[in-house]
Amino acid sequence: MSATNSQHFDIVIAGGGMAGSLLAWCLLRARPALRLAIIEKQTAARQSAEPAQQIQPASFDSRSIALAAGSVSLLQRWGLWQSLADKACPLQQIWVSDKGHFGKTLLTAAEYQLSALGQVLEVEHLGNLLGTKLLQQPNLQYFQPDTISAVTPTIDAQQVQLSSGAELTTRLLIIAEGGLSQSRQLAGFAVSSDDYQQSAIIANLALAQSHQHTAFERFTEHGPIALLPLTGQRYSLVWTVARDDVAALLALDESQFTAAVQQAFGYRAGIFTGAGQRAQYPLLLRRPDQVVRHRTALLGNSLHNLHPIAGQGFNLAIRDIQALLLAFDEAADPGSYQVLRAYQQLREQDIKRVIWFTDALVRGFSNSSRMVALARNAGLAAMLLCDPLKRPLAMQAMGRGQPYAKY
Ligand SMILES: Cc1cc2nc3c(=O)[nH]c(=O)nc-3n(C[C@H](O)[C@H](O)[C@H](O)COP(=O)(O)OP(=O)(O)OC[C@H]3O[C@@H](n4cnc5c(N)ncnc54)[C@H](O)[C@@H]3O)c2cc1C
Repeated sequence: MSATNSQHFDIVIAGGGMAGSLLAWCLLRARPALRLAIIEKQTAARQSAEPAQQIQPASFDSRSIALAAGSVSLLQRWGLWQSLADKACPLQQIWVSDKGHFGKTLLTAAEYQLSALGQVLEVEHLGNLLGTKLLQQPNLQYFQPDTISAVTPTIDAQQVQLSSGAELTTRLLIIAEGGLSQSRQLAGFAVSSDDYQQSAIIANLALAQSHQHTAFERFTEHGPIALLPLTGQRYSLVWTVARDDVAALLALDESQFTAAVQQAFGYRAGIFTGAGQRAQYPLLLRRPDQVVRHRTALLGNSLHNLHPIAGQGFNLAIRDIQALLLAFDEAADPGSYQVLRAYQQLREQDIKRVIWFTDALVRGFSNSSRMVALARNAGLAAMLLCDPLKRPLAMQAMGRGQPYAKY
């Protein structure tokens, strides 16, 4: 690649999904002079006259996500929550139970002196907001639809060749292409993978009565079923099923599917009156061997692709972004060894802990012993209530003495 023909950027983000787009917004907000590029594989999921929707990739699909209180505070600090709050549903209580067991835990916001345990948001709202904001950024260039075809390291840059033929150089390449990232491999990361042989079926369910801002996580002999309350008397369903059962469940018509969910879950959450569009996600645990390599960092699902059982994937990605902002701070070279090492140190322990815990939960629910069931419930409670903002230990370990609250 000839350096003269290539376009130069401070940071290139591969993947303009939830993590990549949010990072771009946070970076440009903190340092508007940075020259940024986003390379996104998918064309717009929907075309419309609204410019925000024209760049929306598939990451912002019909999924809903539970955001922990700490994640909501960060989105507020980053100037986003103010526009999302009225589209989100506050979580006031969570029932964790085992079908067929006595083990049952109720967590309430009041018990922990919180106004809410978290918030549930349909991800398309975040997509629309970020789309609108990013289109107004003069220093951000989109390459879409496009992908990276080769990455060549030099001492002070990564040279990035795109499938379209465009050539870019960047001081830092951030890979946020989700769990199946190709660029991660091109950049030399090795990835280990455990297939749970399960898939998650998601759909929105209509309810005959109010959900009272209550979420349910129910462990059944076939896998967990999560119901997250949404605005407008609806639940977001995440139903974990054996991979072999997916095709039959997707083939059911709406009333048959609604009845199947009702039968699997029972009546604890009330009567389901209908189900919206269904989608399925194969569930795997994918872990790269490193967080960073020469002038390259992984982010979001490219860094930690987890089972959704404990609703931690995007919450982790939000913490990745906060760590990147802290690691960059005012560094002149965003891809320097010091910056990347700081990012790695800030993220390693949190990611390890969440991966370990989530994996133990997935494997634990096939064990029907009462002890395991109770331990599982206690563990899930701890997970939901963990507040990473109260744990600035990694920063202290780095000896930089910066308050975690800066970004
Ligand atoms: C059923 C389900 C429920 C979930 N519930 C929760 C929850 O309650 N709470 C929570 O915190 N998390 C939850 N998650 C996890 C959350 O959805 C993910 O953590 C989040 O989507 C990660 O975002 P990402 O941008 O890293 O990856 P993705 O969302 O996968 O986005 C990757 C982007 O990169 C693009 N791309 C892919 N390959 C390339 C390429 N080669 N070149 C360029 N672009 C590329 C894709 O088109 C996409 O736009 C859930 C996940 C699932 C499946």
